Amino acid sequence: MKRITHWIDGKPWSDASERRGDVDDPATGQVTGQVDFASAAEVDAAVAAAAHAFTTWRQASLSRRAAVLFAFRELINRHREEVAALITAEHGKVRSDAVGEVTRGLEVVDFACGIPHLLKGAFSENVSSRVDSWSIRQPLGVAAGITPFNFPAMVPMWMFPIAIACGNTFVLKPSEKDPSASVRLGELWAEAGLPAGVFNVVHGDKVAVDRLLEHPDVKAVSFVGSTPIARYVYEHGTAHGKRVQALGGAKNHMVVLPDADLELTADAAVSSGFGSAGERCMAISVVVAVGEVADPLLDRISERVARLKVGPGADPSSEMGPLVTAPHRDKVASYLDSSVAEGATLAVDGREHPIEGDQRGFWLGPTVLDRVTPEMRAYRDEIFGPVLSVVRVPTYQAALDLVNGNPYGNGTAIFTNDGGAARRFQNEVEVGMVGINVPIPVPMAYYSFGGWKSSLFGDSHVHGTEGVQFYTRGKVVTSRWLDPSHGGVNLGFPTNE
Ligand code: NAD
Repeated sequence: MKRITHWIDGKPWSDASERRGDVDDPATGQVTGQVDFASAAEVDAAVAAAAHAFTTWRQASLSRRAAVLFAFRELINRHREEVAALITAEHGKVRSDAVGEVTRGLEVVDFACGIPHLLKGAFSENVSSRVDSWSIRQPLGVAAGITPFNFPAMVPMWMFPIAIACGNTFVLKPSEKDPSASVRLGELWAEAGLPAGVFNVVHGDKVAVDRLLEHPDVKAVSFVGSTPIARYVYEHGTAHGKRVQALGGAKNHMVVLPDADLELTADAAVSSGFGSAGERCMAISVVVAVGEVADPLLDRISERVARLKVGPGADPSSEMGPLVTAPHRDKVASYLDSSVAEGATLAVDGREHPIEGDQRGFWLGPTVLDRVTPEMRAYRDEIFGPVLSVVRVPTYQAALDLVNGNPYGNGTAIFTNDGGAARRFQNEVEVGMVGINVPIPVPMAYYSFGGWKSSLFGDSHVHGTEGVQFYTRGKVVTSRWLDPSHGGVNLGFPTNE
């Protein structure tokens, strides 16, 4: 049985934690490892290592920091398949998807390699006679990241490359469901030459999270996960004086206008609804079919869903893997019967889909629910599984009202051939990331990622230049060097002459 322990001060933590949790292989349903759950004292050890490392890392030259980032980039690139295999073994997603998430994380490392340019301030000569002024951005100290199970490598990599590039040190608390990838990233950082203590990993649950939120030496917290926990982390962290960005859950709508290309739209709906078994915060979970488009679109979606190959993530021919845990699979499956009881139609029943794998795995085939209405539980809740709901509406305006009336605002998409309608939608929709004939509009690393409404608490998105802002604070210096004509004592208000 594999034991997964914390990574503190550049090495595995040697003491065994008093509490630990099981780690499963979702494709077989078997327990494959045990992960230590940090106590408050173990979190304190990680924060102490990070606080100590900060005193020297913040002074490391920009070129030295960039050199370590370039070395880290090369190492992740070289070990991409290996990290992906760790993800598949504990999360269950298919290998190509796991490689894809490592690649998207790597793009943030690429972005952070440009830190010498990103941290440039402004300089004004002669703001007053022989007085100069300039702005600088400085690191905060110890930053913490708390991350969800669905992207065990990519979501942490949204955070720590930029935090560390800015001169901070970092304590990561990854999901306890798939903890191995983060420890491997710690080893790669060490190999890249990052000083011990700059990057640390503590595993665990609420005990570890609460200690990070309360620890006086933690200055900033980045969180990604479900909305109730995001709200809690934001409120608890800010109450303890920290800067917090907390990204929450999602309910992403794909609006399909009657003039859309139905083949392209059906491909997009199936890819974005069932990729990673629907366990993506940017997955499309609701297709909003406008006017007469519903029936022909549903036929095309159903044909494609029937052909999907569901099996172990490690099998290269699998297109969709299992769900992350048995309780999560059972919860997702419960929406099938409850939706029918509430009046929806099961256009495709995922429980009947052939599964090519160990039957003890946490399987549920792709499901399509038709005639879903906003009152139903399947519409109101974030299901976070392979269930695509179809809501039928009469007009564009009804579709827009539905999207804007939903409490979540992470991602959305419109499918149409009408440029005017698309432009109107991107202007009017109250959602942070919008796709036009693109179902999963995830911003590149040099833009920032984040939703609106209950999908984000705080005022800054992750990565891109907003990431640099989040992990630094501004300082403006005004300077005058010895000047014989300084004018002597003057109690008047300083003016710029
Ligand atoms: P989760 O909220 O259960 O867990 C996220 C993190 O919080 C984990 O590290 C977990 O250990 C910790 N946690 C769980 N319960 C806690 C508690 N009571 N107190 C303190 N900490 C706690 O989320 P998950 O199930 O791991 O991930 C899926 C969720 O994440 C979905 O809602 C999904 O939409 C969301 N997500 C959002 C984004 C985004 O960018 N907005 C990206 C990925 C995932």
